[in-house]
Amino acid sequence: MVVRVGVLALQGAFIEHEKILRRLGVDATEVRLPEELAGLDGLIIPGGESTTIGKLAVKWRLLEPIRALAKAGRPVWGACAGMILMAQKVTDGVPDQPLLGLMDIAIVRNAFGRQVDSFETDLDVPVLGKIPFHAVFIRAPLIERVGAGVEVLARLEDGAVVAARQGNLLATAFHPELTEDDRFHRYFLGLAGEST
Ligand code: GLN
Repeated sequence: MVVRVGVLALQGAFIEHEKILRRLGVDATEVRLPEELAGLDGLIIPGGESTTIGKLAVKWRLLEPIRALAKAGRPVWGACAGMILMAQKVTDGVPDQPLLGLMDIAIVRNAFGRQVDSFETDLDVPVLGKIPFHAVFIRAPLIERVGAGVEVLARLEDGAVVAARQGNLLATAFHPELTEDDRFHRYFLGLAGEST
């Protein structure tokens, strides 16, 4: 059976995720309306601007149906801005910034300030194997607190958490869709396999 994965396509880097998913043989579909979530095996919330994506998600009444998809056990992955939306708490967020609030993590939204607002680094990600993952950070957030049920998947050298999993939920502070390395996408599809 072909896996069907939605990519929230309100704003940001959604096309890049679709390309990788299609290369992996996945039926990738753009989601802009609640009814487009029906029958999905998983959902990716891409990087972009979390306040914009959040506002549009409220406007198109997508927050509740996405929460329902996650609660039904379908994997949901938030990358960068998407990770901010996944969080229960954003410590330096815009007041009333809409969040999905799915993961027991707290985020610092503009964690790296202006000078180093974009950088690339090789991360040790044990769940992906021994070869480091080349991670692209663009005005990236970081995870400053993880709850008890959250597994830390990767840290920067200074200890800052930049990837985490909570059951069927995945969060990365960086942009795996901007590299040729598709191991995070395959890891996510593995979560989709677990939920069916
Ligand atoms: N800093 C951005 C935000 O708050 C996220 C940047 C990104 O997704 N590359 O939404």
